Formats: sequence, C-alpha cells, structure tokens
Amino acid sequence: MSWTTDPRDALRVTADFDLATFDRASTPGFDGDKAEAEALMAQRGELMAELQERLFAEGREGGTRSLLVVAQGIDTAGKGGIARHVMGMVDPQGVQLRSFGVPTEEERAHHYLWRIEKALPTPGRIGVFDRSHYEDVLVVRVDGLAEEAVWRARYDEINEWERQLVEAGMTVVKVALMVSHDEQGRRLMERLDRPDKRWKFSPGDLRTRAKWDEYQEAYADVFRLTSTEHAPWYVIPADKKWYSRLAITEILTRTLAEMRPQWPVPDFDVADMRAQLATSMSDDALRLSLEDTRESVEEAIAQSVDVRQEAIELRGGERREERAKALKKAWEADLEATIAQKKRILKDRRG
Ligand code: AMP
Ligand code: MG
Repeated sequence: MSWTTDPRDALRVTADFDLATFDRASTPGFDGDKAEAEALMAQRGELMAELQERLFAEGREGGTRSLLVVAQGIDTAGKGGIARHVMGMVDPQGVQLRSFGVPTEEERAHHYLWRIEKALPTPGRIGVFDRSHYEDVLVVRVDGLAEEAVWRARYDEINEWERQLVEAGMTVVKVALMVSHDEQGRRLMERLDRPDKRWKFSPGDLRTRAKWDEYQEAYADVFRLTSTEHAPWYVIPADKKWYSRLAITEILTRTLAEMRPQWPVPDFDVADMRAQLATSMSDDALRLSLEDTRESVEEAIAQSVDVRQEAIELRGGERREERAKALKKAWEADLEATIAQKKRILKDRRG
C-alpha cells in the first residue's frame, strides 16, 4: 500500500489551511507513482463496489442511509473524470449523478436549495453532485448575481442545511478539485486544439478564467466557512489527474468502510423457500444446482472475508482475525446446512 497518510487527514481542510500556497501538483499522503496509483485504484474499486452494493441492499430493506459526494472545481479541474473513472467502478444502479448548471427560470423562481434538495440521493444510493449549492456562493458571488448580504448569509444556511441531511442519515463528503492556473490554461488549450474536445469548451470558460483571483478568494471562503465536522471539505490537488482520482477513490472507500454497510438479513425462511423452489425443479436441475453449491458459495465467502478484512484494515480496526474467522464459520455452517437440505430433498424424491 502506498498511502503513507489517510488522505482524509492529508486533504481535509483544517483551521490553518491556506489555499494561496496550496500546491496543486502535489500528491499528499501518497508516495507511489502513476502506475502504482492505477493499480491501487483498481483494487480499491472492487472493495468500493462491494461496499456500495451492501449499502444499496440495505436501502432496499428499509435502511435510510445514503452517501452524498459534492464535487466542486472550476472548468477542466476534472469533475467529469471523477464521475467517469471513480463512480464508473461501481454499479450505475446505485449511483445518482446530478450536474448543476445555470439555473432555469423555474429554478430561479425558487430558493437556491430547492433544485439541490430534489437531487439528493435516495436511501442506499451514492449521490454525486457535479457542481452544487456551492455555486450559489461561488459564481453568484464572483459575478455579482446576488447582493453581498444575500450570499454572505448562505454559508451559515448551508452548514445548517447539511447538518440536517447528516442527522437524517446522509453521509456528506465534499471534494474540491483545485487545478493550477497554468494547468487550466493547458487543458483549455487542448479542448480548443482537439476537434473531439471542442464541445467541452465554452467561451464563458475564458471569462471565468479571467476572474481567477476572485474565484480563488471565493473558494477560500467556502473552505474557511463551510468545512464542518458533519460535512468536511477535502481539497484535492488536481494537476495530476491520476492523483485526484486515486485520492477521491480512497476517501470514498474509507468513508464507505466506516459506514459498515451489512448484507440485510432476509425476512423470510430461506430453507422453506428452498424447499418450495425445489418442488418446481426437475431432478436434473436440482442435481446440477447441488453440484454447483459448494463452489459458488465458497467463492462468495472468500470474497466477503477479503472485503471485510480490507474494510477493517482501512478503519484501522483490531481483532481482524477473529472477526473474519467468525464470519467465515457462520457462512460455512450455513453452506453445510444448504448442501444437507438439498441432498435430503433429492434422496426423498428417489425414495
Ligand atoms: P459546466 O459545469 O461546465 O457545464 O457549466 C455549468 C455552468 O453553470 C458553470 O458556468 C456554472 O458557473 C454555472 N452555474 C452553476 N450553478 C449556478 C448558479 N447557481 N448560478 C449561476 N450559474 C451557475
Ligand atoms: Mg464547463
């Protein structure tokens, strides 16, 4: 493993955070190179996918928890890449991606949180916001779209609103992708140079870039005023895309591991359902199913034990051996009971 520090500690906004001196080409907490980052990312992807599936299953069975990932950053910072490369590693069914552009007439007629509220993830889902309510203290402030007294009041309002989300069972993770002025210039230039990338460019990007310092100031205030205990900001250096993607993958995986989503316990009698299903199956189908049982369940046990081990390791937990052994023992006993029941059913048929 190449993380020397938990990226949540390395990147979380603290009282002494200074955006002006923040190195956007740095790779805090990670001592590997691009190739190592990509390998680690793939490995984490598998873990993240299973944790996400558990959260989804939990939501299906009446769980109320969800995860909201707020992604902010100026044009070319890599918000789209996060959606594609990080969230692309989990089941799209469990992800609710929403992007926020210039408000429509209808949206403008409502409170600024109205459209955000409608886009919140439902239980069991991971919601990803490509831009968010923070635009209402960023572009709105820089472009003077509201009076200062209006946007000034929003920092507290946002903190309070996010606190209510967290109290209702949502985990809120906010990531800001911060690219350097030079790197943004190169990325915008590439969008102009490449015929297949021109669609991503908008002339407005240059007007936004021209207000670089004002945006940096507005971002600094966002970090200073809205990084809370319940909904912290992680500021991600974004000049190296491989780092920003890896860092966000790691933050999300660790966050999910800490949520400890568990496979729901069925509210029906499994053995009874198995017996009923068997009556509808031919002898051949049932025999084949019996032959497959051990391999398929043992594979699932091994996978779950691995995931649990990794998740516990990420949480810095102890006693991982005992916990893993306990889980393994319970599932193995379940497997033996399953096989015994199937054999019995087949024997009774012959008898
Ligand atoms: P993009 O994400 O590149 O598709 O661009 C979306 C645009 O919508 C950006 O220029 C944002 O600044 C703008 N935008 C997003 N939210 C708001 C808002 N609340 N008020 C004004 N402009 C916004
Ligand atoms: Mg854009």
